[in-house]
This record gives sequence, C-alpha cells and structure tokens, in this order.
Amino acid sequence: MSGMRVPYTDFGKMHDPLRAELDAAWKRVMDREWFIGGEEDEAFEQAFAAYCGTKYCVGVGNGLDALRLILLAAKIGEGDEVLVPANTFIASVLAISYVGATPVLVDPDPETALITPAEAAKHITSRTKAIMVVHLYGRIAEMEGFEKLAGEHGLFLLEDAAQAHGAVRNGKKAGSFGGGAGFSFYPGKNLGAMGDAGAVVTDDPELARRVRMLGNYGSEKKYRHEAQGVNSRLDELQAALLRVKLPHLDAWTAERRRLAALYAGEIRNPRIRLLKKDPGNGYHIFPVLCDDRERLRTELAEEGIQTLIHYPIPIHLQEAYRELGYRQGDFPAAEMLAATELSLPLYPGMTEEQVLHVASVLNRH
Ligand SMILES: *Cc1c(COP(=O)(O)O)cnc(C)c1O
Repeated sequence: MSGMRVPYTDFGKMHDPLRAELDAAWKRVMDREWFIGGEEDEAFEQAFAAYCGTKYCVGVGNGLDALRLILLAAKIGEGDEVLVPANTFIASVLAISYVGATPVLVDPDPETALITPAEAAKHITSRTKAIMVVHLYGRIAEMEGFEKLAGEHGLFLLEDAAQAHGAVRNGKKAGSFGGGAGFSFYPGKNLGAMGDAGAVVTDDPELARRVRMLGNYGSEKKYRHEAQGVNSRLDELQAALLRVKLPHLDAWTAERRRLAALYAGEIRNPRIRLLKKDPGNGYHIFPVLCDDRERLRTELAEEGIQTLIHYPIPIHLQEAYRELGYRQGDFPAAEMLAATELSLPLYPGMTEEQVLHVASVLNRH
C-alpha cells in the first residue's frame, strides 16, 4: 500500500480553476430569469457547431434523446432495421427501439472495440435503413468506409459521439461525418454539464430543423404542432456552464492523450492487453483487457485505485433485449470485451505519479 489514492475521475481538477466563471454563468441565468431556449443555448449551439466543424447544432435534453431525435427526424421507424455495435452502451440501442425500429447488432473488431464497414456489410438486408456508428471510448470508427457503405446501399449514417468530443480522424472531428451525430454532456463525459444535457450536430438544415421541432413538442410556432414530438431541450443553465467549459476541451483532450501515452509506455505486462493505438483518440476511457479482470480490479482497489467496467454485459445478453432472440456466443468479440475490459483512471489534472502508480500495480499482476 503506497498510500496514494487514484480516483476514477476528479471534477474538481477541471472546475476549480473555472469556479469564478462558472459562478458568473449560473448567476447570469438566474438574473436574466429566462431558463429554456434563450441566448445561452443559442451561443453554445453556435460554438459547439463551430468546434465540431458542422453547420448546425441543436441542444437537447441528453445523449439518448439526441440519437432518438436524429432517427425520428430521419423518419426511421417501424419495420426498419438499424445496425449498431453489440458492445455499445445501451442508450445507442434504446434510441433505435424508442422510434420503433429494430436494432441489428454488429460484432466489433476486438483490436479496436469498434465495428468495421466489412462486418456491418454482412448484416445489411432489404429492411436496413441506417447505420449507427459508435465512437466507443473516444476512438473514431472507420468513417470513410462507412460513408461508402451507406452511399452504396442508400442508408442513413449517424454517429453516436457521446464518448468522442474532440476526437479527430483525418483532420475531421467526431460529429462531422455522416448525416447527423448525437453528443451527450452527461457530467462524466469529456465535455460534461452539471446535470443531463446533449446535442445533435449536422450539416443538413432540414434534419436540424426537424430535430428542434420534434424536441419542442413537434412545434416551431407556439401552439401549432406539425408532429407528435417530445420535450427534450438544452436548458439555459446547462448551456451557460457548457459555454464556460468548451474553450478548455482541447487542452483537456491533449492532457488525456499525454496521460494515455504515458500509460501505454509504462504498461509492460503480457497479461494485460491494450487496444490498437490511435493518435486522434479523445480518450474518454482508457481500457485494458485482462483475462483475470476481477483479481486485477481487486489488486488495484487494494492500492487505492478506482476502476470501472465499460460494459460488463453486452446488449445481446441483456434482459431488456431478450426479444431480439440472440444467444451467448453470437458476438464473440463483444463477449470477450465484456469479460475482460477494465477502465483505468484518466482525467485532466491526473498526475504522472498517479499514472506510474497504476502502471506499477498492473505490471505486478
Ligand atoms: C453516455 C452515452 C449515451 C447516452 O447519453 P446520456 O446523456 O447519458 O443519455 C449514449 N451513447 C453512449 C456511447 C454513451 O456513452
């Protein structure tokens, strides 16, 4: 026991230097007495669209709603199939079921934890309408290949970018590929609000219009309703806080990359495997794979190191998706990842000593 404690994450390291600005932001909203759909929201939407390199951004209530509203706006629903990774967080899949479409799971590449165009292509049928690519752990999938595949089959391509704020691929940011992308600003995400929040980004003016309309009770003009929408909007308070944090996202991402590189250089235990390197990774999560995960997790906990698992049960083995009729063995890579993945602490403000401490415990395993 070295006595050093390593939490999984530490919000204070990000928020403390910004405390005066964050205080001013929430006071500004309170004083203005305007809480939904106002100037904070508009300013954040413009800033986030510019950040992602897209024409439009629509603030919504959370990441799940962002994905659900994109699918609704793209008129995907009953009878349609949507391809989605078998190893994603359940929200990606819930968005598909919410609109009445059928999720069709795709096994990821075990070296990246991402689905590939080649594997996705095997699942395309006459009912396939869309591909939801998930940039899991902060790593952008092979979007050029997905754009080509979607083009060839006339499919709508959307990105679940809830873990990929600031990630880049060939000079393009997560969210700027395909027809639309959903972001989450859940507090623990790389750009986090202080409550639930999310956004849709797109270059398509009609998709942006429909997402905004559908998230506002199906209305663009007060008391005139074009569709049976929902209530899912980014509130002024969260937008004001996000405006303070967004300018720091690139520095935080650079710090995550630097710490991740340190981890990768220090971990030298053949029993602990890393995913393939990717310089554009935003490192929302730093996963290691270990066959003896539970013991490793205990060893780390005994040294004061907190870890998480993303995710212990793949979608096809979840009670909620029994109706899809999948069985154990159907998605070997997703099952391998669920059985071996362990997420190490990684956050802006984490010290090099903390990384070295974690690595030394891993190397002793
Ligand atoms: C967090 C997350 C979501 C959902 O975002 P919420 O804001 O929590 O609704 C969707 N997909 C992935 C991959 C996520 O990590």
